[in-house]
Amino acid sequence: MATLREKNVLVTGGGRGIGRAIALAFASEGCRVAITGRTQASLDAVAKEIRAKGAKALPLCCDVTRKDEVDALNREIAGEFGGIQILVNNAGMAPAAAFLEMEDRLWNQVLKVNLTGAYHCCKVFLPAMIAAKWGRIINIASTVAKVAYPYIAAYTASKHGLLGLTRALAIEMARTGVTVNAICPGYVETELTLGNAARMAEKTGKEVEEVLKLFKSATPQNRLIAPEEVADLAVMLASESTGGITGQAINVDGGAVMV
Ligand code: NAD
Repeated sequence: MATLREKNVLVTGGGRGIGRAIALAFASEGCRVAITGRTQASLDAVAKEIRAKGAKALPLCCDVTRKDEVDALNREIAGEFGGIQILVNNAGMAPAAAFLEMEDRLWNQVLKVNLTGAYHCCKVFLPAMIAAKWGRIINIASTVAKVAYPYIAAYTASKHGLLGLTRALAIEMARTGVTVNAICPGYVETELTLGNAARMAEKTGKEVEEVLKLFKSATPQNRLIAPEEVADLAVMLASESTGGITGQAINVDGGAVMV
């Protein structure tokens, strides 16, 4: 996809997991890649991998729940790269809790990171895309943006909300050259999934391997998704040739959810 060469990308939560894979996939396409997250050391490690591919990297700490920090991030990226054309809202958290036992603090934090964080980034980075008459916003949602499972009410509500934001913004931006889409992964092999499996194992007295087997068996393909599979779709949605795809939510889940 030669058209992506020299484009500037921002990946939030780019220090590990799916975000890291997306950052590396865009680096392989010849993009300049800004990555943000909360831990400078992991951002620096991914930046090293990006540079090893011959691409420019900009690892900057930012808490996406803080609008002032996202504004500062925009200024720093503008100074180094002159702005971004592709925004990947990937930062997220997925804690589990029974609804009545869930602390209000958890509800508020999940909504703040998964939904308001993406809102802040769209608000801050969109004006330059509109001015350039070209832009791509890719929101990493979840199959849980379309269906529900027990014990993750906050996560489910936040991802349904993120899908709503995706669709609303896609329509509002339809004539600006900016597309807005969501990717809806199922269980992806990352620290987030492994951490959730470990916590579930502890609660239920099962082995972690057994829980992972359960996660796998929830999909017809009976496997976890690799972060790189999500990353490849993100690159595709950013390409010139997919300009007609907007407001969509594409599942990468081994056939688990078919809506
Ligand atoms: P992960 O926990 O490995 O990575 C999440 C990243 O987000 C981390 O780098 C973290 O630092 C960053 N982050 C969290 N809060 C932040 C904040 N306030 N500001 C900036 N960065 C912040 O998770 P992952 O598995 O790579 O998931 C990435 C995204 O994909 C999330 O939005 C998640 O909901 C979504 N997703 C994951 C799965 C899965 O099975 N792993 C499935 C569907 C969707």
